[in-house]
Amino acid sequence: MTIQLPVADQGLTWAVTRNEYPLPAADREAILADPGFGKFFTDHMVDICWSKGGGWHRPRVQPYGPIQLDPAAAVLHYAQEIFEGLKAYRHADGSIWTFRPEANAARMQRSARRVALPELPTEYFLDALRQLVAVDAAWVPSTPETSLYLRPYMYAKEAFLGVRPADKIAFYVIASPAGAYFTGGVAPVRIWLSSRYARAARGGTGAAKTGGNYAASLLPQAEAYQQGCQQVLFLDDQGNLEELGGMNIVLVRKDGSILTPDSDSILEGITRDSVLRLATDRGITVEQRPISLAEWRDGAASGDIVGAFACGTAAVIVPIGTLLGDGVEIVHDGPASQELAMSLREELTGIQHGRVEDRHGWLTRLDG
Ligand SMILES: *Cc1c(COP(=O)(O)O)cnc(C)c1O
Repeated sequence: MTIQLPVADQGLTWAVTRNEYPLPAADREAILADPGFGKFFTDHMVDICWSKGGGWHRPRVQPYGPIQLDPAAAVLHYAQEIFEGLKAYRHADGSIWTFRPEANAARMQRSARRVALPELPTEYFLDALRQLVAVDAAWVPSTPETSLYLRPYMYAKEAFLGVRPADKIAFYVIASPAGAYFTGGVAPVRIWLSSRYARAARGGTGAAKTGGNYAASLLPQAEAYQQGCQQVLFLDDQGNLEELGGMNIVLVRKDGSILTPDSDSILEGITRDSVLRLATDRGITVEQRPISLAEWRDGAASGDIVGAFACGTAAVIVPIGTLLGDGVEIVHDGPASQELAMSLREELTGIQHGRVEDRHGWLTRLDG
């Protein structure tokens, strides 16, 4: 059954095809009770087509399922692809909200420019989220710290092996319930310093949210696991701190100020930007500038740097307990090492879940 739903104040008319075989409610509830991360997907997905001649067209909601792709589709050969990640939160009154979606839309436009994909207008991006949540609202969990992770992405589907920006593009949104990151107490992570591999280079694609950066991070990530670490820290081509393959990094000083890297190859996280803002609101001094590994090591040794944390949408904020690498070991296990990270985490998740006042107007309602 296909229903045409007009969308207010722009040209997109959504075609909604309901999944006739949604997962039975009891099975869905069992998944929502322990969703993990990225393992289960909702009953529907959203897609919008783009072509060089026709622009954005044929927006639709359809049952979640496999995509048909020509074996020559450019994305499979040249990785012309970008993605985003944000969450939908259920508040105590049952309403469904998301956090700074315009920032994700704007970042997707920046990523698109870098890999020669078309820019999806912010209104279309927001509409796509609303359309998906309208049909899959029952998938937004309500237990503390859980959410529905929304994954918008765009790829080159044109069947053509010549090397140039593709003329046919697909934009999709899929959704996956996400469980609480910390179950049974906060565990600071151990991270591995990759001295052999880089995830990005000056003038490269490090600042774009594109799959190729992740492909480059998988081998060092496997190396990290072998070393008993959960994540990798990459340095930029100047030998300065860059980021973890999917999270930004922040260092905490003894005097309470915080320090975070500035570099052309960093993916600018919306979580980090929000954390810096909340810290500034508290009167905390925030410095964003190149930071060498030596500065962190010497600061940790002298007691000037007392802690570090990683931040990103999926895990929000995670304290870093240890940095390990060839000839490098930095340990943050002092009494103050997690304090700021955990209190910023509490405030940020409080805003997202509607427990703390949203004084910056960061929340956007997705339902109703
Ligand atoms: C998505 C991402 C982040 C975190 O960004 P958020 O907007 O905070 O989720 C950090 N680094 C990389 C490489 C990323 O892809």
